[in-house]
Order: sequence, then structure tokens, then C-alpha cells
Amino acid sequence: MNPLGVHALVFVSGWSQDEAARAIDRAAACGFEYLEIPLIDPKAIDVEQTRRALVGAGIKPMTSLGLGFDNDISSDDLAKVKRGDALLHDALAVARDLGSTMLSGVLYSALGKYPEAPSEAGRWNCVQALGRLAEEALASDITIGIEPVNRYESNLINTGDDALKLIQTIGADNMVVHLDSYHMNIEEGAPDALIQRLGDRLGYVHINESHRGYLGTGSIDFCALFRALAQHDYRGVITFEAFSAGIGDPKLNADLAVWRPLWRDPESLARHARDFMLNELQRSRVRSESVSPVAEKQKEEAPPAVDLKPELEMRSQPPSQRNFGWSRRRS
Ligand code: MN
Repeated sequence: MNPLGVHALVFVSGWSQDEAARAIDRAAACGFEYLEIPLIDPKAIDVEQTRRALVGAGIKPMTSLGLGFDNDISSDDLAKVKRGDALLHDALAVARDLGSTMLSGVLYSALGKYPEAPSEAGRWNCVQALGRLAEEALASDITIGIEPVNRYESNLINTGDDALKLIQTIGADNMVVHLDSYHMNIEEGAPDALIQRLGDRLGYVHINESHRGYLGTGSIDFCALFRALAQHDYRGVITFEAFSAGIGDPKLNADLAVWRPLWRDPESLARHARDFMLNELQRSRVRSESVSPVAEKQKEEAPPAVDLKPELEMRSQPPSQRNFGWSRRRS
């Protein structure tokens, strides 16, 4: 069974000592194994206090980050790239000192709506900066995750294939794709072919509803997603993420266009999410284990509910046919 996590901003708005203690305590009380800590301002974190609280509660940390327009490593302004480099370096140091084995998120561009497509120079700056980060991370045995986000939150990496191509261009073994059901719902097709293409490069998963509220009350087909994860033997951490107006970081909420209060009780939401994910994991396991001759025969006899073949063929075009490329290479 995959380890389950919860995003800290479900419980708190920042990372003061009080908030750190509360988020860690709540994650443990709700039965989670991991807590994702956003490193929005890594230097403001009391690393020693957080580390002690994590150890005391038996909670393992995941760490994540999104860049801003002022420290965007995909910019062609080298001063911004340099600030992004410094922030990523600081975040990596905190991730290491907290005992996290992964730093993930929108590490490749600003988190926000861009007015234009990325420039070639900006793409290349991003490749080089993430190459440096991955190399530094390797020394501490930390994996760098690339989370594709929807078109309104980045112009650079919107799909799993975009992330895979970026990782292949950089050529670092300690980089993985981090999928998020909320963004997949906007940018991807059926999950099965994508998850198969990603293979071992899929290293982290966020579970979010289509409106970022209670799981099961939006429009995402979680059954198909969990089935694909089980069928392709994804064994990594699965973390619940949700946002609601009035809860969490106000600046991040604005960047993510979180304007509505979709939920008000963090603990009720988090407990429900854990039960929901456990249920989906159990069902997907039963489904993938039940591929017996009898089950196969029943499958043959059952008429398909909807013919998804044309859609699947379209979705599974290899990236090279999508006219998206990292044309410049390290020389
Ligand atoms: Mn996410």
C-alpha cells in the first residue's frame, strides 16, 4: 500500500513555530505518514524545531516549492535566474536538514499566469539551473520532483510528457515526475497511457479534487487514476492537497486563484481524504489482482461502456509529435 501524505496548508497558513507544531500534530492525528511542508520562505523556518516535532510525532517530511516571477529560473533575465538559483539552493538545504528525501513542485518557473510563451533562452536557463540543483541534491541523496501544472499556473511544464522531456534533457538520474490530479484534469487525457509512459520516472503524486475541495465531490475520475497507478505498480507517496479561501497561505491562494471557501474544517477534510484514498487504493488493488481467467472472460463478455479508443490514440501520441521541444542542448 502506498504511503499517504497531506499538504501542510490544509491545516495552517504559514510555518511559524506554532503553525509547524500544529500542522505536524494534525497530520499525525489524522493518520498520515507524510506531511508536505511548503518551503515558501526557507530561511524563515526553524529547522531544528520542525525536525524535532516531526521525529516526535513519527511524521516524515516531503518538501515543495513554487518560484515567483522575481526569481524565475526560466526567465531570460539572468538576475532573476540567479535569485531563483539561490532560493532553490536554500530550499534544498532546508529539505536536507529536515530529513526530507524529496524537493518537488514548480521548481522550474514562476507559479502564475504568463502573458507569453517561454523564450528559448529562458528554457535553456531552466535546464542549466535544474541541472545544477539536481547535482547538488545528489550529494544529499535527495530527489528533485517536477510537478506539471495547468496552463494558468505556468507556461513551461503543463503535462507529464513535458516534465519527462525536461528531465531527459537534463539527464539527471535523481529527477522524477510529480503528477497532480487537479492539473491532470485540465491538461491530460486518460491516465493509463501517461503513467505507463512515465514508468519509473513517476516519483510522487498529489491527489486533489477538480475544485480543490472534498474528494469525490468534484468531477475527477479517481477510480481510473488509482487503477492506472496500481496497474503500473506505482509505489511512491500519495499526498492529499486542497485549498480553500481563508485557509492556507493568502499569497499562494491568490496565485492559485483560490477565491471560494470550499471547505472550512481542515481535520474533517483531511480525515475524509485519507479514508477516500485508502478506499481507492484497496479497490484498485483488488481490481488489479483479480485479473484471473474468469475475470478476463467476464471482461470479454461485458460490452465497453464508452469507446475511448480514438481518444486514447490521440492522447498517447509521443511527445515528438506535439511540436514541443527543448531544442537547445548542453554544448
Ligand atoms: Mn500539487
